[in-house]
Formats: sequence, structure tokens, C-alpha cells
Amino acid sequence: MSEIVIIGAGLSGLTVAYELSKHGVPSLLIEGRNRIGGRINTVEGPIEMGATWFGQQHITLVKLIEELGITSFEQNTEGKISFDPGPKTALQYFDYPQGQAPSFRIKGGTLALLQELKSKTTGAKVKYDLNVIGLKLIGNSVQISTDSGETLTSSIVISTIPPQLLATNINIEPEIENERLELMLQTHTWMGESIKFAFSYIRPFWKENRLSGMGFSQSGVIQEVHNHSNFENNFFALKGFLNPNLVRLNEEQRKELVVNAMTKLFGHGAKEFISYKETLWINEKNTSIKESAPLAPHQNNGHPILAETLLNGRLIMAGSETSSRFPGYMDGAVNSGLRAAQEAIKLTKSGK
Ligand SMILES: Cc1cc2nc3c(=O)[nH]c(=O)nc-3n(C[C@H](O)[C@H](O)[C@H](O)COP(=O)(O)OP(=O)(O)OC[C@H]3O[C@@H](n4cnc5c(N)ncnc54)[C@H](O)[C@@H]3O)c2cc1C
Repeated sequence: MSEIVIIGAGLSGLTVAYELSKHGVPSLLIEGRNRIGGRINTVEGPIEMGATWFGQQHITLVKLIEELGITSFEQNTEGKISFDPGPKTALQYFDYPQGQAPSFRIKGGTLALLQELKSKTTGAKVKYDLNVIGLKLIGNSVQISTDSGETLTSSIVISTIPPQLLATNINIEPEIENERLELMLQTHTWMGESIKFAFSYIRPFWKENRLSGMGFSQSGVIQEVHNHSNFENNFFALKGFLNPNLVRLNEEQRKELVVNAMTKLFGHGAKEFISYKETLWINEKNTSIKESAPLAPHQNNGHPILAETLLNGRLIMAGSETSSRFPGYMDGAVNSGLRAAQEAIKLTKSGK
């Protein structure tokens, strides 16, 4: 049986490979980065520089987590929430609202989900540091060109590249018709412009003041921050999102602003961090593009046309933004991956 080529080894691509392997279908994943995960990136700590939380409503993801035997735990929200209404205004404190549905995280970090998926997949290979630049229909096959000059051919290709990035970066022949191309270009890549930051600490100093480590701010620097201590509760961190406009500063300038904003939210203990980490997702070449006119969050996410095949049915579309359920989220990535794998299996069985 010939290999199915999957572009992208993020959650969606690894779900496709896993599902195909359950049906004995081999696959080859082509990944532009030097790591698996895409928008999931757990760094030392574990600290999530990408996706972190899920909820019970994310049923496809929850089912996969259970199937893989992965341990998850509830986000710690104990203590007061800090709120900074902006310059010249005193800090305020709130209780965590009653009746909120809990969020969950994965023990060891979200990367553990990907590692488990990969290890339980048989018959799949991954080529790293290889970027697809062109897809061309030739007869009943798709010719895949890459930035290394290597060309591959497969009768079925599954793309997990976010639609906007695909429309911008990949030369597709025959060309995508204009209306669909425009839709893809107008599809927001969820979190593509976000800036994540994290501080690690020797001890959870915020707890001494009965704070939860959760904070919200209108200071123009930090948007939100959460307790990011680990499952075992022996690694302590606070992690959150910055105003995306801070992309124009250099790391030192940004860090200084963030330390000051954290000190206002949580007190002087915030300055005694062990490490500071940040990821500016807009600068990641395999996630999103720098738009001249920013799109609204989730714009066109889950539009049914995004999930339709291209190249005479031989280019199958996956990736979270193509999902009909929770597009943009990890649940959408799994959902789209399962759908795409089923489409590929059907095509394989049809012998076309
Ligand atoms: C900062 C941040 C926080 C988030 N928080 C959450 C959260 O808490 N909960 C949640 O549910 N979701 C969250 N998300 C969204 C979640 O990460 C995504 O829904 C999910 O990871 C998408 O998976 P995917 O496989 O569809 O896409 P991606 O992860 O984007 O994977 C696509 C893959 O394709 C590769 N690729 C792209 N172009 C090419 C090319 N030309 N050639 C070869 N390879 C290519 C990329 O390198 C990447 O590995 C967050 C995202 C970010 C960035």
C-alpha cells in the first residue's frame, strides 16, 4: 500500500497518522519545523508556550486523551484574582466566579499528548525541517515540491497547514478558484498573533497573599496571567498573554514592562523569578502571516468550504481551522484529523 503524505506534524497531522495506522495505512509526515507539535510547544518546566487548556465540552479531544491513557488535571484557581484597571488606578481583587466550568491541563505538558500519539502510531515516518512549497495534480497523483529541492509523489495528500498560510505559501496547480482562495486568506489562524510569556519561581509566592496567580490587566502590557505550576506541584510558574502590539519592542524592553506589570498584579515577589520565557507567534514562519488588516478572532473558522478537498479529491484538508466543531482549538485539530483520515481511508479503499 502506498504511503499517504501528511503535511504538518502538529496535533492534527499526528491524529491523522494515528488513525491511519489503526487501519494499517502507512503515512509520511512532512514537517517544516525541527519538532512535532506546531502550535503546541511545551518547553522546559513544563511551560506551555502554545496550547494549554481543554474542557469537558471538547469531547473528541477528551476521548483521545482517555484512549491514550493520559493523565489530566484541573487548572488551579484557588485564591483571589488580581485585576489592574490601568495606570493611576489601584489594583482590585475578585473571587473566582462560582459555577464556572473547570479547565484542564495535561500532566507533563501538552507535548505529552503528542508524544503518546506518535509512540502509539505504527507505520509512520516524519521528515523534519522540510517545507512544502508546491502541490501539483499530475494524473491521479499529487506532486509535492519542497524547499530542499526534493520532490515526492503520492496519490493522497492531507494538508494540516492553517488555511491562510496554505493560501499564501503553497503554489497549488491547478490554481484554487478565487472565491475559495479569498476565503482561505480571510481565515484567522487562532492565536497566530498572540504573545505568550512565562516566569518560573522557586516558590509560589503569590499564595502567601492568598492570591490565585490569576490576573487580568488593562495596563496595555499583560492581558491575562494564570497559575502555571505543574501537576506534582513542585515546579512553580505564572504564565499568560501579552498585548500583541508589544511585538514592536525588543525582548529586553518587553521584559521590563512585563516585570513591572507583574509586580503591580502580584507584589514584589514577582521580580524574583528564575526564568523568563516568551514566544511571539507572529514571528513563527509556519503558523501565521503578518496581515496588513488584522482579522477578527476565529474569523471564518470552521467554514464548511475549508474542509472540502482540492486537486480532484486528492488533497484532503485537515487542521483545526477546518473543523466543524471547536475550530481553532485542540479539539478541532483532533476532530479534523479524524475526519481527514476517514476520507483518505475511503479513497484508498475505492481504489481510485
Ligand atoms: C499561544 C497559543 C495558545 C493556545 N491555547 C490553546 C488552548 O489553551 N486550548 C486549545 O484548545 N487550543 C489552544 N491553542 C490552539 C491550538 O494550539 C491549535 O488549535 C492546535 O494546536 C492546532 O493544531 P493543528 O495541527 O491543526 O495546527 P498546527 O499546530 O498549526 O500544525 C500545523 C503544522 O504544519 C506545519 N507546517 C506549516 N506549513 C508547513 C509547510 N509549508 N511545510 C511543512 N510543514 C508545515 C507547522 O510547522 C505545524 O507543525 C493555542 C494556540 C496558541 C498559538
